[in-house]
Amino acid sequence: MMKKSLSTAVLVALGMTAFGANAADTELNIYSARHYQTDEALYGTFTKLTGIKVNRIEAKEDELLERIRNEGANSPADIFVTVDASRLAYADQMGIFAPVSSKILEERIPAHLRAKNWFSYSTRARVIVYNKDMVTAEQAQTYEGLADPALKGKVCTRSGSHPYNLSLGAALIQHDGAAKTEQWAKGVVANFARAPKGGDTDQIKAVAAGECGIAIANSYYLARLMNSDKPEDKAVVARVTAVWPNQQSWGTHINVSGAGMLKHAPNKGAAVKFLEYLASDEAQSYFANGNNEWPVVAGVKVANPALEKLGPFKADTLPIGDLANTVAEAQKIFDRAGYR
Ligand code: FE
Repeated sequence: MMKKSLSTAVLVALGMTAFGANAADTELNIYSARHYQTDEALYGTFTKLTGIKVNRIEAKEDELLERIRNEGANSPADIFVTVDASRLAYADQMGIFAPVSSKILEERIPAHLRAKNWFSYSTRARVIVYNKDMVTAEQAQTYEGLADPALKGKVCTRSGSHPYNLSLGAALIQHDGAAKTEQWAKGVVANFARAPKGGDTDQIKAVAAGECGIAIANSYYLARLMNSDKPEDKAVVARVTAVWPNQQSWGTHINVSGAGMLKHAPNKGAAVKFLEYLASDEAQSYFANGNNEWPVVAGVKVANPALEKLGPFKADTLPIGDLANTVAEAQKIFDRAGYR
């Protein structure tokens, strides 16, 4: 698994230690679409433990994928890190990943959070937030309920073509079927308080402001506001109520941040070590806490006041790799329903 094809000494003799050339796994090149404050500690600890130098290129997801595609077999990239299962699946469909077989990863990461060619390292939940002056608690318990005509003029959401909503749509198709999901999407569109715009934080703020009665948002956006010291953020949090949706049925939809080893990785040994390191207790804390997410490895604790306050919940256990199977269908359904 961590066998080196050539020793460092041989490579140095051959003058092959430049970035991009095979540096005999003394270096690791990471292309990451994730950047958080805890990253220095995350990568620094890996270097301390292994002696492997980490080179990072951070950019938007699409730019990195374009770069990997253009670099082809000459790509120096060993690892690709990004967020959202449908994006990871898209990268996988491009054929950029190589399969990794690792006992450590199999033991530490729950099966439903592993795909064939990539691994999840943190989870986030798609929660419902509502304004108590406009919506009752009973109306805010399920994703399906967002299509209830009683919520006419009250629902806010970001674009239906955003990966977070497409992944939710993909899960709805698998749990409720395509026909019901299409009815649902039409119902949600009919309930819009306004045309979709902005990000998830904008939806939470609009609920607080009373512009919408109810919205969906990823948990870390809410947690970020909850952990903020800014008076304006505290005011927003005070005016919204958060719900774990679908606790009586299939559970709250979760999504992930994840990573995989690239097919043309020059440092495959280092890449596997890094993927295994990310599943260690220490790395799990950094990785999850950097964005107010939950670790995937059981028993790893993170001290995050907002997540503690939100409390435990029943999460959907749909295999994360399978979400990708219905993302394209979700996009078609949303298009037909006018959920753009
Ligand atoms: Fe996000």
